Formats: sequence, structure tokens, C-alpha cells
Amino acid sequence: MTTAALPPHDDVNLRQAVIDTAAAMNALGINQGKAGNVSARCDGGFLVTPSGVPYADLEPGDIVFMDLEGRYRGIMVPSSEWRMHLSIYQGRPAAGAVVHTHSTFCTTLACLREPIPAFHYMVAVAGGTRIEVADYATFGTQALSDAMMTALGPRRACLLANHGMIAFGADLRRALDLAVEVETLARQYWHARMMGTPVILGEEEMAEVLRRFATYGRQPKDLPPGTPQALEFPTKLD
Ligand code: 13P
Ligand code: ZN
Repeated sequence: MTTAALPPHDDVNLRQAVIDTAAAMNALGINQGKAGNVSARCDGGFLVTPSGVPYADLEPGDIVFMDLEGRYRGIMVPSSEWRMHLSIYQGRPAAGAVVHTHSTFCTTLACLREPIPAFHYMVAVAGGTRIEVADYATFGTQALSDAMMTALGPRRACLLANHGMIAFGADLRRALDLAVEVETLARQYWHARMMGTPVILGEEEMAEVLRRFATYGRQPKDLPPGTPQALEFPTKLD
């Protein structure tokens, strides 16, 4: 993501999109009340939900700007989890938005300290062969942010012990979609575990899924010239 392409911190549309994404977490059933937080990268830093304010009460002017040195500008204090958001924007250049939720099934597994293994090929949607659980640390601390970065590794989502989950993506829509997908995987895994012992896919099978995911869902025109399609499509007639 190049800085030139980023909207300024006073961009009302991006501020409203952060509010809409936070409200959508609750409407989609992956969060409740004032829990969780949302941010989006902007020129010079990121815009983040304020701490402890019901999402229905938020207006664009309430969204807090933070620079990449961890300083803020706004009429409210930033989310208590600003350190997790900051670490992701500092460490992962591809991150354009971050969604943190206390979704029920991710939190259930996180309380049991159970990572999500490759019981389903879609586990690769987070960028790896497993979705890890970050070690427990008190909410809002640098220790939690450090544990999260370790659990993320090269991936885009992880569970947070006795707390919830966090996911990021290129933009707000993709970050929210990934949070929904990871919660769905957590629910499916829970159900499978309730009925028996799910079969876990091997490294080779998951490597093939990851290879296919490199171009999955992207039209040929959206791929860099010369990029081979990982999936086999039928002969095009028109
Ligand atoms: P904030 O309201 O401060 O963002 O806190 C919510 C939360 O989920 C803390 O982990
Ligand atoms: Zn939280």
C-alpha cells in the first residue's frame, strides 16, 4: 500500500466506514455491545474507534487519528487496544484495516487455548495452515500486542487467549469478511469436535490450497501480467 493512495485523516467517508464496520460486527452477530474495535489506515497513520463508546452513538468526528509513533489526535481517547492496531500497521505493510471482536466461537476456543487446525481447507483464508492462539495478557497492554504479533506470524488473523480474535485485511471490507470467516471456522470446528475427532488436512494438502488461494477470487484482468492462474478454468467461448 503506497502512502499516496491513502485518504487523509479528516476524510469523513473513511471515518464513517470505520463506524459502519464497527456497527456491522454487532449486526452480523460476531460481536456484542461495546466490545471490540475497528481501525483503517490513512495518510500518516490510522483512524480507530474511541474507547468504550456504543457504536450507535458514534459520529465521524469521534473517530480518533493515531500516527505511527503512537500519538493521537481527537476529541475522545482511542480504543484501549490501540497498541494491537499500531503494531499491525507498523509491522504489516499490507494491512489497510483491522477488526477486533469478542465473537462467541473464537472466544470459546481461545478460552480453551485451542488453535484452529486445518480441519477445513478454508483455514488457509487467514494465510496459513493453522489459526493460532496468542498467549494471555491483560487487555490494552503492550504484552497483549506482542503476544498477538507472535501468534499472527505471517498470517492475517489469530485468536486471543481468554479474550477474542483479531483480523486484518487490505481494507475494511476484507478485514470484516475475514473476521466473519474465522468465526465461521471456529463454529464449524466446535461442532465437528462435539461430534467426534475431525480429520486434519496434511501439510501437502494445505500447501496446494494456499497455492490456489494466491489467485482465487481474482479475475484475470486484476492479476499482474504473466501471473499463472492456480485454478484450472474451462475453455472460454466468447
Ligand atoms: P475499547 O472500547 O477500548 O476499544 O475496548 C474494547 C475491547 O475489546 C478491549 O479489548
Ligand atoms: Zn477486546
